[in-house]
Amino acid sequence: MRYQAREVGVDGRVRLVLEGALTARDRVGVQDFVLLENFNSEAAFIENLRRRFTENLIYTYMGSVLVSVNPYKDLEIYSPQHMERYRGVSYYEISPHIYALSDNTYRAMKTSRRDQCILISGESGAGKTEASKKILLYYAVSCPAHQRMASLRDCLLQSTPVLEAFGNAKTLRNDNSSRFGKYMDIQFDFRGVPVGAHILNYLLEKSRVVHQNHGERNYHVFYQLLEGGTEEQLLHLHLDRNPQKYLYLVKGNCPRVSSMNDKNGWKALVKALSVIGFTEGEELLDVIGSVLHLGNTQFGEEEDGQTYVTTEMELKTLTQLLGVDGAALTEALTHKKLTANGEEMISPLTFEQAGAARDALAQAVYGRTFTWLVEKINQSLALDGSSVIGLLDIYGFEVFQHNSFEQFCINYCSEKLQQLFIELTLRSEQEEYETEGVAWEPVQYFDNKVICDLIEEKHKGIISILDEECVRPGEACDLSFLEKLEDTLGGHAHFVTHKLANGKTRRVLGREEFRLLHYAGEVNYTVTGFLDKNNDTLYRSLKEVMCQSTNHIVEHCFRRGELVDQKRPEMAATQFKNSLTKLMETLMSKEPSYVRCIKPNDAKQPGRFDEVLVRHQVKYLGLMENLRVRRAGFAYRRHFEAFLQRYKPLCPETWPVWQGELAEGVSTLVQYLGYKPEEYKMGRYLVLMNTLYQRRWAVIQAAWR
Ligand code: ADP
Ligand code: MG
Repeated sequence: MRYQAREVGVDGRVRLVLEGALTARDRVGVQDFVLLENFNSEAAFIENLRRRFTENLIYTYMGSVLVSVNPYKDLEIYSPQHMERYRGVSYYEISPHIYALSDNTYRAMKTSRRDQCILISGESGAGKTEASKKILLYYAVSCPAHQRMASLRDCLLQSTPVLEAFGNAKTLRNDNSSRFGKYMDIQFDFRGVPVGAHILNYLLEKSRVVHQNHGERNYHVFYQLLEGGTEEQLLHLHLDRNPQKYLYLVKGNCPRVSSMNDKNGWKALVKALSVIGFTEGEELLDVIGSVLHLGNTQFGEEEDGQTYVTTEMELKTLTQLLGVDGAALTEALTHKKLTANGEEMISPLTFEQAGAARDALAQAVYGRTFTWLVEKINQSLALDGSSVIGLLDIYGFEVFQHNSFEQFCINYCSEKLQQLFIELTLRSEQEEYETEGVAWEPVQYFDNKVICDLIEEKHKGIISILDEECVRPGEACDLSFLEKLEDTLGGHAHFVTHKLANGKTRRVLGREEFRLLHYAGEVNYTVTGFLDKNNDTLYRSLKEVMCQSTNHIVEHCFRRGELVDQKRPEMAATQFKNSLTKLMETLMSKEPSYVRCIKPNDAKQPGRFDEVLVRHQVKYLGLMENLRVRRAGFAYRRHFEAFLQRYKPLCPETWPVWQGELAEGVSTLVQYLGYKPEEYKMGRYLVLMNTLYQRRWAVIQAAWR
C-alpha cells in the first residue's frame, strides 16, 4: 500500500496521507483547474496551461475531465513502467496522465458495472488520435488477459495501422489527419478481461481520393504502396514508383511529407493485415492500384460531341485489376442508361460528365473498400463481453478558407457532441442538484440546440431542404438550394447569406456562400458541389459492371441487390444524421469521461504556445463553463448506503453495522472524520463532496479501496 504515512490532525485524529508521490516539478501551476484560485479568469486558465506546457506537463485535470496539450515531440511518459505506475492508483495521487483516466474508467466499469465511454475532442491536429491510441494500448497491455486473448490484443492494436493507411492523409493542419470518424467499443468479460471489440466508422472524406488542396495529400496507402511495394507487386499492378505520374496524387503537389516514412508505413500495413488475418491481400492491392489507373483514365471528344476513352492501356490494366469486362466498362464510363416508359435508353455522356462518372467510380470503389476493411477488422475482433468501454475519436470543428459539404457534416457532428456534453455534464449535473435539494448557483451556458435544429429539423432544417432539392425534378442546382435556404431560414439568427447580411456579419459573403454561426465560431460554406455530394450517386451502368467483378472485394462492395432495390437510398447527409443520432443514443447510455485536446500552435512545432490559438480552443471546448460547473459543484457523490458500506470501518460508531437512519449514519461518519460543513452536503439520497476538498476524499477513498 502506498499510503502508510499518517498525519495526526489538530483534533488528535489520525488521517492517512500520501507519501511523496508528487514531486515539486509535478506541482507547476495547479494540476487540477478546479484548484485554480482565479477560476473565473480565462487568462489564469491559459497561464496555467502554458506554465505546465513549458515544463512538458501536457496533462491537467478539470475534475474528471483531462485536458491535454499536444507537445509535438515524443515525451518519455508512455513506457510500460508508466502504465504500471498508474494502475489502480487514485486520480490525485500522481501527476495527471491519460493512463490515469484510462485506469479510472476501467475501474469505474468494474465496480459500478456500468458501461463507460471516453469522448475525445479537439480540433484537427490537437492529439485526439494519439490519445485514443494510448488508451487502447493501456487496455491492451495492462488489463488482465488469458492466453487465448493474446491474439485479440494483437488484432486490436493492429487495427490502427490499417485504418490509418486507408483513412488518414496529410492535410495542412495535421500530417496524419484522420479523415473519418471512429467509435470503438472495447468489450470486457465479468473479470475485466478484454474479450472483443467493435468499430464503427463515420463518413470518410471520399472527395480526397480524386482531389486534394494545395499542400495536402491523398490517403497514405497510395504513397506507401508506391514506395514500399515489391518490384513484382508494382509490375503486376503496372505502377510506377513516382507518385507524380498519377493524376489522383498530384493535385496537392505534395508527394512527400518530412514527418512520414511511407516505406515503413507500408511495412507496418502489411504486417498488420497479416496479424488480422487478411486473406484477400492481393485483391486489396488490385483495388488500390485500380483507383490510381482510374485517375489516369482520360477522355477525348469527337467533333459530334461523342466522348471516348483516350487511354487504352490504362483501361486495359484497369479492367484486369477490377476483374471486369473491358468493353462494358468503357461503355459505362461514356454512356448512361435511362429507363423511360419501361424502355431502356442509352445516352452518351459529355466530356465533363464522363470525367465526373470516373471520379464517382473511384470514390465509390475506395469508400466501399474502406467500409469493407472495417468489417473485416470487426470480424477479427468479434466477441461480446458483459461490459463496455467506448472510445470516440471523431473529427473536431473545422474551418478552412473554402468549406464544403464535408466541413458542413464535420461541424454538424461537432454541434451534436456539444449537445451531448451539455446534456451529460452541464444540464444533468445542475438537474441533480435540484432533485437532491442542494442549494446551488446555476451556471449560465449557451445551449446550441438552436443550431442543431437549424441543421437537422424535419422539413425545415438545412439537411431536409438539401434532400428535397436533390430529388426535385427539373432545374435544381446548388444555387437553387441556396435560394431555398434563404427563403426558409432567412430569419434565423444563426444563418446568413450575402442577401441577408444586414449587419449580422463582418466579411462580405460571396453569392455562392452561406454562413452558419456555430457555437464554436462562424463558418462560410460554399454551396458548390453540395447536391452532388449529397446525392452521391453512381450511374447504374457503372454499378452493373462492378457487380460482375471477379475481384471478391469489389464484388462484395457492389451487391446486385442494390440494382433491383426500388427504394431510393438515403442521401449522404441524412445517412450521416441518422448514424449520429444512433451514436448519441449509444453514448447517452454510458458514463462519460472526457479528454479535451488542445493544439498549441499551427506550425506543428514543439515548445511553441500560441495564446490566441489556445484561447479560441478553450472557448469552444467550453472549458471555462465546464470549470465553473465543476467549481460550484460536488464532483464526488455517493448514495448513502453505498457510502456507509464503504467507509464505515473508519468510525467506531458506524462499525461494524449502523443501526439507524442511513442519512444519520453518513452524517455521523463524516463528522467523526472531522469534515467541516462547507466540505460536503447531504442531499435527499446522496452525500455530495465539495469539489475543492475532493483531494482529501481521494485519500480516504484510496486507503479503503
Ligand atoms: P488529431 O487526431 O486530433 O487530428 P493527432 O492525434 O493525429 O491529431 O496528432 C497530430 C500529431 O501531433 C501526431 O501525429 C503527433 O506527431 C503529434 N502528437 C499528438 N499527441 C501527441 C503526444 N501525446 N505526444 C507526442 N506527439 C503527439
Ligand atoms: Mg485524428
